Amino acid sequence: MQPNFSQKHPSTHRPIDLILPRLEKARRSKNGWIARCPAHLDKTPSLGVRELDDGRVLIHCFSGCDAADVVAAVGLTLADLFPPRPPGPERQFAPSSNPAFSPFDVLRLIQHEIHIVLAAACTALNGELTREDIERLQTAINRITDAIRLAGVKR
Ligand SMILES: [Zn+2]
Repeated sequence: MQPNFSQKHPSTHRPIDLILPRLEKARRSKNGWIARCPAHLDKTPSLGVRELDDGRVLIHCFSGCDAADVVAAVGLTLADLFPPRPPGPERQFAPSSNPAFSPFDVLRLIQHEIHIVLAAACTALNGELTREDIERLQTAINRITDAIRLAGVKR
């Protein structure tokens, strides 16, 4: 059977395509877009949106809204600003025969948590981390620790 090359690049979802349609009055600006900030009563668009080369999206409210609040206002999370991992290598992991522990699930969880950490780092660049952000980072550490314990990995 011939491989179907048209399926080689499945619909890659870009974070920018996720966030832009949810923003009002989004228009092109110098190096990205400017839109109404959904997190505050924004009469003149004051939310800067930028897509980086690697697909990450940076958002910055010039009125000072927290990036986490901005994405939450349109039903997204900071992790949605990061591109999904490219498809492929994950399929090489055979499902574990032990239903209580799948290495793939654990890696997936760790990857997700690392996205949260990266998102928080972005927030830190834009301003200050909130107590909630810090608590979420603590949760990330706890989850990764749990995952390691679950996998039975000993130091
Ligand atoms: Zn705002």
